[in-house]
Amino acid sequence: MSALEITDLAAAPAPRLVTEVPGPQAMARIERDRKVTSPSLPRAYPFVPKRGAGSVLEDVDGNLFLDLNAGIAVNSTGHAHPKVVEAIQRQAELLLHYSGCDFYLPVYSDLCEVLDRIAPMSKPVRSFLTNSGTEAVEGALKLARYATGRQYAIAFYGAFHGRSYGAISLGASKAKYRTDFGPLLPSVYHSFYGDFDYIEDVLFRHMVNPHEVAAIFVEPVMGEGGYVVPPEGWMRYLRDLCDKHGILLVADEVQSGMGRTGKMWAIEHFDVEPDILLSAKGIASGMPLGAIIAREDLMTWEFGAHGSTFGGNPLSCAAALATIELIEGGLMDNAVQVGEVLFEGLRGIKDRYPSLLVDVRGLALMIGLEFPGHDEMVAVEQAAFHRGLLALGCGETAIRMSPPLVLRKDQAETALEVFEAAVAEVGSGS
Ligand code: PLP
Repeated sequence: MSALEITDLAAAPAPRLVTEVPGPQAMARIERDRKVTSPSLPRAYPFVPKRGAGSVLEDVDGNLFLDLNAGIAVNSTGHAHPKVVEAIQRQAELLLHYSGCDFYLPVYSDLCEVLDRIAPMSKPVRSFLTNSGTEAVEGALKLARYATGRQYAIAFYGAFHGRSYGAISLGASKAKYRTDFGPLLPSVYHSFYGDFDYIEDVLFRHMVNPHEVAAIFVEPVMGEGGYVVPPEGWMRYLRDLCDKHGILLVADEVQSGMGRTGKMWAIEHFDVEPDILLSAKGIASGMPLGAIIAREDLMTWEFGAHGSTFGGNPLSCAAALATIELIEGGLMDNAVQVGEVLFEGLRGIKDRYPSLLVDVRGLALMIGLEFPGHDEMVAVEQAAFHRGLLALGCGETAIRMSPPLVLRKDQAETALEVFEAAVAEVGSGS
């Protein structure tokens, strides 16, 4: 069956390659792309997608790939979920845009009501909707300063919070994200992810009075920095530290939220409530949307203090409502079940290739795989791609698996076979 004849792409057996990858069409497209796009774009490998359904993507040459990236943890409900597509189409026919910033969009407040219901806070919350994770981080930094009257923030080495000035000041994953862009915000300090002493012993003693710290920004499971689950008790320690000094705890759940870890929010695994929670990526299945979700008594900034023309656009809000319904309606459970299949299989691969795959970690469908060095990690990522399996590096030495939450058990088993073949190929060459 040629790729063109496939009508049910989501059910098609993948991977299935009909050319070398990249194929001729992909190479031609890459050639054109390179002439006109920003060279800053960090393309991981020469994948040129044409269409997608469920966890399957077809490239421009008709090759079928099994997708464990979900567009960097974005396509939470899979590619083109019919219910999400229908919600977007319905909304598009009604109203494409009318700024929720200056006017009262019904679908905007519909979504904020749902966020209030699902937020991991016991008290009521209010939400400000953005177009991206970065904007959510940036707005949260402003809100934290505004609400506390304090100027400093603490974040963590390894963390990624986006690309704007506030966000790169908080982030500390790769030096190149900051190189030649300085000066950054002067009032951000960093501690070590998972460390129980440094903030008090070093930062509060030598660098900053805790009563001048507005917020601690933390990813409840670290994303770009390597898919790292913090040690037991650490999130509680941060919560207590914040309570002791009147500091706000901001959970950046841009990557870890929306059911990916088997709970709606990763912070729920640690039984801790944040003061502000940030969402984006998977919230709208691929439509641009982010959210700053804050305790009602904190979100008291006055009329006009913060706004956005496009933030919370109607199409994205409609997609988010459908997405959340699907996640609550079974996809979160599927993430737990299929996550178990992947974890078990990956631990087996680790046992068979212990000098190459040195750690398997994560929660449900947020899985980090650690390699001894950067070169080995990249070699496995590329070998997987050449076999039709899409997974992506994170940190210096890890590969992440962040598949759509619709990934089926049989697809997880196929992914394991292909991944093991990639590991074996790299292992035999090293
Ligand atoms: N925060 C976290 C934890 C992220 O992983 C990312 C993106 O990877 C961001 C913020 C920035 O989000 P965006 O790329 O949508 O601006």
